[in-house]
Amino acid sequence: MDEYGNTGEGRAARRDEAVRAAVEQGLLGPDHPIVGLLDVTGIRESAAELRAAFAEVTAPGTPVLHAFAVKATPLVPVLRLLREEGIGAEVASPGELALARAAGLPPERTVLDSPAKTAAELREALALGIAVNADNPQELDRIDGLMLPHNPKGMGGTPMAVSRSPLGIRVNPQVGGGSIGATSTATETSKFGVALRDEGAREWVVRAYLDRPWLSRLHAHTGSQGIPLSLMIRGVEETYALAEEINRRIGRPQIDTIDIGGGLPVNFASEVTAPTYTEYARALKAAVPGLFDGRYGLVTEFGRSLLAKHGTIVARVEYAKSAGGRPVAVTHAGVQVATRTVYVPGSWPLRIAAYDGKGRPKSGPEVVQDVAGPACFAGDLLAEGRALPLLDQGDYAAALDTGAYYFAHHYAYNSLARPGIYGFVPDHRAGGVRFATVRDPQTLASIVAESGGAHAGALTTLHAPGSR
Ligand SMILES: *Cc1c(COP(=O)(O)O)cnc(C)c1O
Repeated sequence: MDEYGNTGEGRAARRDEAVRAAVEQGLLGPDHPIVGLLDVTGIRESAAELRAAFAEVTAPGTPVLHAFAVKATPLVPVLRLLREEGIGAEVASPGELALARAAGLPPERTVLDSPAKTAAELREALALGIAVNADNPQELDRIDGLMLPHNPKGMGGTPMAVSRSPLGIRVNPQVGGGSIGATSTATETSKFGVALRDEGAREWVVRAYLDRPWLSRLHAHTGSQGIPLSLMIRGVEETYALAEEINRRIGRPQIDTIDIGGGLPVNFASEVTAPTYTEYARALKAAVPGLFDGRYGLVTEFGRSLLAKHGTIVARVEYAKSAGGRPVAVTHAGVQVATRTVYVPGSWPLRIAAYDGKGRPKSGPEVVQDVAGPACFAGDLLAEGRALPLLDQGDYAAALDTGAYYFAHHYAYNSLARPGIYGFVPDHRAGGVRFATVRDPQTLASIVAESGGAHAGALTTLHAPGSR
């Protein structure tokens, strides 16, 4: 295993220990049939690898902000842990900004991207000094209104900026999509950013910078899972070339920071971390050396690649049955915690690990079986026709690599409760593993409250005039 655990052996061993300890310590059991587990050691390792990978390729003194895409794992304790590891936050909604602030992320380590920022959100971001990437010309108009409220032409006829927010424009380099349409953001017709190859768009972008001396950043995010590395690199090449062109046309380095987005794909097929941040950073440097020579600061926005491999959903097998000759393990993990996998299984397959009733890895001959969730529709399957040691009643099935876009993205089908989430570290004194609560399991009272419980009579007392 290398220094960052890229073969994943250490990670797999920590996970096995944590599942056993979760059963032993009562976090998992008949009354708590599903939990999410987060490997704190692994998260710290990934953050360290990210920082080291870009430190290796950038000129000394280059400002680099790694802004974690909060949407990947929107949990305050995770954001706080990453903050401690030197990682900032990329937010795309008022809720995500509130989470970042609750975790103590300062404005200068926060970036706001979203295709639908309201005027109020923009005003707040600019007042706080948070970096904003404008998605389109109409949004830039709104920013103009906020930046130049009283003094459209300041001293010497130059527009004067009134916010310290670093501001940029998001472009879509239109380099194409990957294997998953829903996560491909640089297609011809993607909804994000200014579509650079459209008629007149490039010239519009250049003019936008010429007219606004306070626009100092350029942003692109070429896509997420399913985008090949070569396409991500082409997206960065195009963005860099545009920054160079703009600075040349203006005659000074007005764009001082390039935000290259996130999107490093995750290997869901085995324990190995691939590609690594180091591979990506080196490939970027080889393809776009000018980006790393110290003339530009860098912002990155990785999400899935920082967290995915450090999360595990563990669910109890409530019943083991057989249908049409196929064994079916009915567990407590389904569409509510693995929404994409259940609805689009071909694009989002997950590895499943089998544990016995004491949380020990299950061995024995592999049997083709279905691992089903608790929701009331036939397609609620975590895995279909998967070869695994036969799952029995009281065993546990674990969905691996689910630290991003899974258990932190609850889907309220069948009013299933949000499971508790616990972080863990090895600890030889505390029965081998020490846990900390990241999120409490949802209570029934909370489900009722979220479902209009306070307004139970609202509809029966609402009558059209004269109907009663
Ligand atoms: C979703 C998103 C990211 C993170 O993508 P990952 O695939 O999780 O790394 C980064 N930037 C923007 C603008 C995004 O929308």
